[in-house]
Amino acid sequence: MRLVEVVLVLHLATLLMRLGSILAGHTGANLMEPSIYQNLYIGAYALTVLMLSIGALLMATDRLRTELEHLATHDSLTPALNRRALLQRCEEEIERARRYGGGPSLMMLDLDHFKAVNDSCGHQHGDAGLVHFVGRTLAVLRTPDRMGRYGGEEFMVLLPGTDATAALNVARRIHATLAVGHALDCKVSIGLTQWTGPEDTLDAMLARADAALYRAKAQGRNQTVVG
Ligand code: GH3
Ligand code: MG
Ligand code: MG
Repeated sequence: MRLVEVVLVLHLATLLMRLGSILAGHTGANLMEPSIYQNLYIGAYALTVLMLSIGALLMATDRLRTELEHLATHDSLTPALNRRALLQRCEEEIERARRYGGGPSLMMLDLDHFKAVNDSCGHQHGDAGLVHFVGRTLAVLRTPDRMGRYGGEEFMVLLPGTDATAALNVARRIHATLAVGHALDCKVSIGLTQWTGPEDTLDAMLARADAALYRAKAQGRNQTVVG
């Protein structure tokens, strides 16, 4: 874009210079009579066409790269990250916490009785419900937080630099935003765990969050359990 902008500005300057030369009477008997201004104009024109073609090609490549990057890191249905991208983000965050402290909390979220939603309202309604759920949840998260689809109707939320108490407040906000009575609202069970220190690993955090989620389901669903 920068290349195209510079080329267009330079070409505009050439055009203005040519206009100035015409107004100043340097054109000779007719507009096409050879002169230093005409040569400059024709040379600049050829160069501009070439540079604009290169610029268009570069912009198209850049756009394609951005789109491919998005496809490689995001879920195909919802605006959440895909599993690989989120787990990589978690690893990075844990690595950062080992150096500087202030570890993250991790949530495992599983929609309640989602099979029944599909069975009674159809898979398209179920898909719309998943998109709605992610949109609602993202709306209550902060900018550094990340949400990813772990698989099916299971999601993960990474809360960098957040302890279990603060993360529990976020979980409460998620339950609350899903209880407003929208046609696509569904309930969710959440297993929550916080980073316990430099010895803690992503695998251990995932296991704790998973066990807490299992307990949230066993205790009646639509709730958060800290593990
Ligand atoms: P629980 O409260 O115990 O979690 O019950 P559940 O019905 O949510 O859990 P179960 O594992 O029995 O069913 C999960 C359902 O999620 C079944 C599957 O069809 C549905 N599901 C998974 N991925 C998608 C999807 O991409 N779109 C739709 N519409 N449904 C999906
Ligand atoms: Mg499930
Ligand atoms: Mg479920």
